[in-house]
Amino acid sequence: MIVSSKTVPFVDLTLQHQPIQAEIEQAMATVVQRGDFILGKTLKEFETEFAQASGVKHGVGVASGTDAIALGLQACGILPGDEVLVPANTFIATVIGVIQAGATPILVDCDPHTALIDLNLAAKAITPKTKAIVPVHLYGQMVSPTALLDFAKAHNLIIFEDAAQAHLAQREGYKAGSVGMAAAFSFYPSKNLGAFGNGGMLVTSNEEVAQRVRTLRNYGAPKKYYHTEVGKNSRLDTLQAAILQVKLPYLSQWNQLRNQAGQIYDQGLKSGKNKGVIPMKNLSKGGHVYHLYVIRISEASSWSREQVQEFLGERGIQTGIHYPIPCHLQPAYKSLGYQLGDFPQAEMLCEEILSLPMYPGITSEQIAWVIEQLSLI
Ligand SMILES: *Cc1c(COP(=O)(O)O)cnc(C)c1O
Repeated sequence: MIVSSKTVPFVDLTLQHQPIQAEIEQAMATVVQRGDFILGKTLKEFETEFAQASGVKHGVGVASGTDAIALGLQACGILPGDEVLVPANTFIATVIGVIQAGATPILVDCDPHTALIDLNLAAKAITPKTKAIVPVHLYGQMVSPTALLDFAKAHNLIIFEDAAQAHLAQREGYKAGSVGMAAAFSFYPSKNLGAFGNGGMLVTSNEEVAQRVRTLRNYGAPKKYYHTEVGKNSRLDTLQAAILQVKLPYLSQWNQLRNQAGQIYDQGLKSGKNKGVIPMKNLSKGGHVYHLYVIRISEASSWSREQVQEFLGERGIQTGIHYPIPCHLQPAYKSLGYQLGDFPQAEMLCEEILSLPMYPGITSEQIAWVIEQLSLI
């Protein structure tokens, strides 16, 4: 019997936009009236507000999270030929950012319980050329800041955080974006703080790094028509900043709702009836901002991940896979020289993970429905 009267979408952005639609339209109208579409007043305000919320001094709005990584690494002094440690299981943009900065990504396997970079393995991948590590605060959970700081100190490496999935996440008293020399955020629409299009931000407490990204994002010009570097055209539009500025005060509330939903999933899945279903571990309690809620359909299940996904889909429950192919096995990155078997944990996760519906406003009834269906597998 297929019951499809209840549907649980994977995300529902209208829930967050409807209540503040008038506020957003007003903010956009103000920008239109001013006409300061590029590097306008609202952008500067939002840069300050977002940096403050993230516990750092400076924010520099750029066109995307990918550009925030690329320009940010460059500004931190990463040079062509340098090696940068990155997790093998991340969204490909982490790797793209490193390559666009001119550096060589060195992939590192992950902890299967959290899907976060394994720092013991990272230590083994270090060579004399290694200059930095890009920890990815994947799914909304930070890589342990204290472990990261110890690691970076011991090996004399720069920390550059990929916080694209972790706006306002916290762990061990640190906020995402405030641990390393600098950090990158994305405002892709479905991120915890999303624009109505593309956008990103480089945050740092280092004045020189901030200044350098301001130059790099604007044709390499510290002042108009005077170019000290080749640079790029990569600015966060004032219109997008206006939308994000309206949304920012709601973000911690939305994150709390995500965290509560995560706890309800965790509790419900603990009951033991969901054979072979293993949720990713939350090691940061209330500081996990659950960009995604990810489970594994492990070997202990007699169902394959694809069967579970289809079964849930037939019952109106949308799911995703983040991500189905690890970076080192993507066709475009063959030249990095990796092969199947190099990162067994990342490869295992790609086969077993499933992202369940997660967004601020998902109800406990909807989550109960998902858990109930999972108990049938
Ligand atoms: C979304 C994302 C990015 C890239 O951000 P864009 O704004 O899409 O360029 C980078 N890293 C991670 C982990 C992401 O999830």
